[in-house]
Parts: sequence; C-alpha cells; structure tokens
Amino acid sequence: MSLCIECACGFCCDGTLYSHAPLKDTDLPVRNESIVALERSGSGPSDPSEYYFDQPCKLCLNDRCAIHDQTRPAICGDYTCKLLVNHAAGKVSLADAKALVHNVKVLRDRLRPQLEEFTDSEAPLALVELTRLAVNRMETMDAAARSSVSSGMLLDLALMRILLAKHFDSRLTRHTYLADKAMQTMDAASDSQAQQQEEPGK
Ligand code: SF4
Ligand code: SF4
Repeated sequence: MSLCIECACGFCCDGTLYSHAPLKDTDLPVRNESIVALERSGSGPSDPSEYYFDQPCKLCLNDRCAIHDQTRPAICGDYTCKLLVNHAAGKVSLADAKALVHNVKVLRDRLRPQLEEFTDSEAPLALVELTRLAVNRMETMDAAARSSVSSGMLLDLALMRILLAKHFDSRLTRHTYLADKAMQTMDAASDSQAQQQEEPGK
C-alpha cells in the first residue's frame, strides 16, 4: 500500500499544497466528470494554452483518492512530494510520516474555518488560495484593524507554511512571504497592543 493511502494524506489533492493541477494533452479529453479540464490561454504562439483542473479535487474523499486504482490524469501518478522521496530513501519511517501528516491535518482543519470566516469565502476554495486571500486582506488593513486579527490563526498560518515547505514541497519556500506577512502582522498587532497598554500611564 502506498504511503499516501497508509497515511490518509491527500495534501497534494485537497488544496492544502496547490490550487490546481496541470493536465497533459494526453489527459484530454478528461473522461471523469469530477475532473473538469479548464484552459488557461497562453500569451502568444510561443506560449501555448495550458490545461488544468481545480483543487480541492472532487475525487479526494476522506483524504484519499477515490479512483486510486483507476485511470487518472498523468500528474496524479507522477507526482512525488518530499515526504514520499524521503520515506522511499529510508530517511522517514512510516510512523514518523503518519505523525507528521496527522499534525498537518490538525492545522489544516483548524485553519480552514478561520480563514473562510476571515476572508468571507463560501465556496470550497483551496487552503492555499484562502491563505493568499487572507494575506491580501491583511495587507490592506491599518494597524488598528490588524491588532484584531486572531494571533492563533496567524501562528497556525505561519507554522503551516513552514511545515509544508520543509516536508512536502521546498518550492513553497519561494512563498514564505506568506508566513513572513503573518509574522509581521502579529508583530504589528502586539506592538499596537503594548502601545495601548502604556498610554493610560503616560
Ligand atoms: S502530499 Fe505526498 S504523501 Fe501526501 S498524498 Fe501527496 S504525494 Fe502522498
Ligand atoms: S484524481 Fe485522485 S490523485 Fe488525482 S488529484 Fe484527484 S484525488 Fe488526487
């Protein structure tokens, strides 16, 4: 049984890591009605159209692929995260992989409702997309409004980005600005609170 199934992971399918998955020409037409091929037009002849499908994938049920043993888009079989590679190399035991996946799931499930509320999102958006919306929103807030942002949510946001980059996809380190922004917002909020506490005694 694969590590993905044993750990009941699914972070590369449920929107935790990515907001979409690329499709190859050979995947088209996609026969499964749950995977709808979307087209992103290129900017010119040297930049051809790309096909992709959105995440969370509708076939990721209870953190497992519902069609694991059937024909899937090529990316589904080709994709390997750092955890898979490290486990195959004997660097991460199954028990440690399960514990890591469990911890990230706890974070994911705690973050999602907070981010949906914070960003006023209703559709089942990818967690990574919710994170982007939350950061965009924080960027437009003034210091007073930022001080009201839940420090628990910000800590979870920062920790999530670090765990995903460290254990699943190091390309996400290019996006640690999301964690940096969360930490900056927390710093600004605590400065503002400290200032408010000092003011009565001035
Ligand atoms: S993120 Fe890694 S361990 Fe999790 S389902 Fe995807 S490939 Fe498997
Ligand atoms: S078809 Fe299966 S492996 Fe592919 S994205 Fe959906 S849930 Fe993941």
